[in-house]
Amino acid sequence: MKGLCVLGATGSIGVSTLDVAARHPVLYKVVALTAHSNIETLFQQCLVHSPDYAVVVDEDKAQEFAAKVNNSPLSGLKVLSGASALEQVAALPEVDSVMAAIVGAAGLLPTLAAAKAGKTVLLANKEALVMSGDIFMREITAAGARLLPIDSEHNAIFQCMPASYDTGVQPKQVRRILLTASGGPFRELPLAQMVSVTPEQAVAHPNWDMGKKISVDSATMMNKGLEMIEACILFDLPPDRIQVVIHPQSVIHSMVDYIDGTVLAQLGNPDMRIPIAHAMAYPERFDSGAKSLNIFEVKRMDFEEPNLERFPCLRLAYRAISAGGTVPTVLNAANEIAVEAFLNRQIKFTDIPMIIENCINKISVSAADSLSIILDKDREARDAAKTFVTKINS
Ligand code: NAD
Ligand code: MG
Repeated sequence: MKGLCVLGATGSIGVSTLDVAARHPVLYKVVALTAHSNIETLFQQCLVHSPDYAVVVDEDKAQEFAAKVNNSPLSGLKVLSGASALEQVAALPEVDSVMAAIVGAAGLLPTLAAAKAGKTVLLANKEALVMSGDIFMREITAAGARLLPIDSEHNAIFQCMPASYDTGVQPKQVRRILLTASGGPFRELPLAQMVSVTPEQAVAHPNWDMGKKISVDSATMMNKGLEMIEACILFDLPPDRIQVVIHPQSVIHSMVDYIDGTVLAQLGNPDMRIPIAHAMAYPERFDSGAKSLNIFEVKRMDFEEPNLERFPCLRLAYRAISAGGTVPTVLNAANEIAVEAFLNRQIKFTDIPMIIENCINKISVSAADSLSIILDKDREARDAAKTFVTKINS
């Protein structure tokens, strides 16, 4: 029986993770669930999954949650609050696997805590890896932790690697990775209309049902940019060996091109329970609850090269990883601020790449060799991005 901690339990990935865990009560015991402030969902999840710990990051909401727990059948539940409690539950001795499903940079410290404690880290939180790649992988190796990718593309790539493959190691017989992308909702929108895209249009993804931030990232294709960087780090390959391929049907979740000309692909319905179940059962397999793919319904699969003029965020991600050092940290932080401002209707859709590019141009590059440097650059980039947002509004 493995102890499971779900960081970001109330989000899209968290909910899917608990759905998979509930199918395997003999294999997984839910030890800890965390949320930022959605205490209604967290409370229901605690009733169903009976964890020992629940963390609510927001202090006021945590008090409200604790009061609710005291007047309920959950009175044995330990309720913790604040961001540091995330690190505490990720490192609990009774936890074996940690699902890192907090969105954005807020997930970095708890995910690192899980790595340092030698846990099996099921990584959905790509932003944490993008902002701290080398340090993150060093901690995983130093602690003898295992890192399994949950992002559907990286999980697909991992599944197409040789059976003995471990993340962080450059695969010897691989020529390149073909990283598939749906192209998001604006793949065919006339360029002149990009400027007037609304948050509602941007979060309506054609194939996947996800949190708001990643949905906007999919619309700008920054999601694929972050994933390209994620792939460079997870599989220790340079960016010129990661080819982004637009595949609008999202049936193939990525491919690995070997030196003998073999291309291996992983296919499936667009249901995140598939990669989640793969990582939770690894190296075995178990039921995910997802429907199996009806290949006759697929009918056709299309592939095209991405247009970097349409999707400047993807170009910026290639620029960031090629420049190296703290540039990916800056890219990620500026993107988080710009996406939030877009969702709050403070800036236009097309301002997102403009703000990110301005931040990359403005902020000096450092070697990304300590956590404090990374956290400083993250802050500097957020401040700079907020200043650009204010300028646009004045
Ligand atoms: P979501 O917005 O649905 O959920 C985010 C979760 O993080 C919530 O539980 C929320 O309470 C928590 N959270 C938010 N801010 C926090 C903070 N400051 N401190 C602590 N907790 C906080 O997001 P999601 O779609 O589930 O995505 C989660 C992560 O998984 C992201 O990094 C995303 O890129 C990645 N991912 C998601 C999908 C998907 O299908 N949703 C696919 C691949 C990768
Ligand atoms: Mg993905």
